[in-house]
Amino acid sequence: MTKPSPKLQIIPLGGMGEIGKNMTVVRYGDDIIVIDSGLMFPQDDMLGIDLVIPDIAYLLENRDLVRAIILTHGHEDHIGALPYVLKQLDVPVYGTRLTLGILEGRLKENNVAATLNPVNPGNQIQIGVFKIGFIRVSHSIADAVALSIKTPVGTIVHTGDFKLDQTPVDGKVTDFHRFAELGDRGVLVMLADSTNAERPGFTPSEKVVGATFDETFRNARERIIIATFSSNIHRIQQAIDTACKYRRKVAVLGRSMVNVVNIAMELGYITMPEGVMIEVDEINNYPASGIAIITTGSQGEPMAALSRMAMSDHKKVEIVPGDTIVISATPIPGNEKMVSRTIDFLLRQGAEVVYEAAAGIHVSGHASQEELKFMHNLIRPKFFIPAHGEYRHLVKHAKLAQDMGMPKENVFVVENGTVLEFTPEKGVIAAKVTAGNVLVDGLGVGDVGNIVLRDRRQLSQDGILIVVVTMDKQRGCVVAGPDIVSRGFVYVRESEQLMEEAKDRVKDALEKCEAGRVTEWATIKSNVRDTLGKFLYERTRRRPMILPIIMEV
Ligand SMILES: [Zn+2]
Ligand SMILES: [Zn+2]
Repeated sequence: MTKPSPKLQIIPLGGMGEIGKNMTVVRYGDDIIVIDSGLMFPQDDMLGIDLVIPDIAYLLENRDLVRAIILTHGHEDHIGALPYVLKQLDVPVYGTRLTLGILEGRLKENNVAATLNPVNPGNQIQIGVFKIGFIRVSHSIADAVALSIKTPVGTIVHTGDFKLDQTPVDGKVTDFHRFAELGDRGVLVMLADSTNAERPGFTPSEKVVGATFDETFRNARERIIIATFSSNIHRIQQAIDTACKYRRKVAVLGRSMVNVVNIAMELGYITMPEGVMIEVDEINNYPASGIAIITTGSQGEPMAALSRMAMSDHKKVEIVPGDTIVISATPIPGNEKMVSRTIDFLLRQGAEVVYEAAAGIHVSGHASQEELKFMHNLIRPKFFIPAHGEYRHLVKHAKLAQDMGMPKENVFVVENGTVLEFTPEKGVIAAKVTAGNVLVDGLGVGDVGNIVLRDRRQLSQDGILIVVVTMDKQRGCVVAGPDIVSRGFVYVRESEQLMEEAKDRVKDALEKCEAGRVTEWATIKSNVRDTLGKFLYERTRRRPMILPIIMEV
């Protein structure tokens, strides 16, 4: 009997049903490659969590088979988990030069060593059974690529994040020819960016923003401050170019902005004539009409430079009436409130604020419906997996593919952890593997789970009461107390009566225990918790966390 030939498996470990922590496994027999390794920013109910990374239990179980991690571009949702992943998996990483440049800084901050192998768009590399091609695409960061992966079963195309910008700022257009060629030769499976699957039409070119910058610079009489994503190299380049045109000096502000601009200039992805860049300290040596500042804080992040300026909390730059502030980004869902608060503060300081997307001050980096259709028509895959999106984006992208004629059974809308198996003729959902969120809080990775989060939510909503009582273990009677300490529940000095009554209730509960000869500490504690909880809810309609502490003598 011959051994059945191995199947081609595609297993998303992140990025399905969410915008963030993108990670996709491709497996054939004993060869595994991983595409991207991103993080996600925490949702509102993940209190105190710094960031979220994919659960890589599957990769750790198969660690001997993992040959490489392949990166599509340098955004956090594609590289942000690597400092954590590479600590547990010693595998080589492949990506374009800017992607690896940004990653290198991130790894250094975290003291992680790794083998980084630079590739150029157009290159092909052989890893295990896979022949991997890097294909240039436009996106809101330079040096982004899609991947073609030739396998013994057929070719996979993974678009990465992309848009089809016909006039990209660096002139490096998406490699349409290569996509068409792959489509001609036959593509088995395509995974494609679904972020903007709900948006009709085409995403405007990044050059649109350059035109808006030009208009803003032409009209502004005093300082111009532009806030954008530090990773948006092309946007930064356009701001620099416009500043040069209007003879303004450029100062760069904010830690991540300074880092990325330095890396990008070193690698030649940002160019600036000699003498244009000045230090922040030199701003006041020039007239206001001769200054442009490029900064972080487009998302209203409290610690970012723009937010600090807005709150008059920045050490070096103070907002003054006459300043023109351009927020060249749209808020990521969840950040809207912080952004609008920042805008309010800037307006209060007398600044002019340009922020509406409608004003051409920001364009998306992701393909809209017509561009997605274009990609489908170029690639003409047999099977399609919508990727990189909330669940509704995936469903929308699947419908779009079906409207273009793909049979329903060839389109797979899946959750993280789904094992998809392909032969040249057939695609099926074969199994499930572990996938999920690992929460990072400070130095702790994965030590904060659902129970800790539930406690944090309760604490954040109604506070905590600590009941301290000293008891004689032998006789089972109260020696001292009870005392009640509370935080975040009520202001104790104005609620003395409530606290006294609460103490009485605790005493009652303890006496009942004594009378009933209850000596189990755990039972006594739960009686105290129940009695007090009921009383407080009746009186306040609040449910603080109650923490009884019994001290023994
Ligand atoms: Zn991206
Ligand atoms: Zn992305």
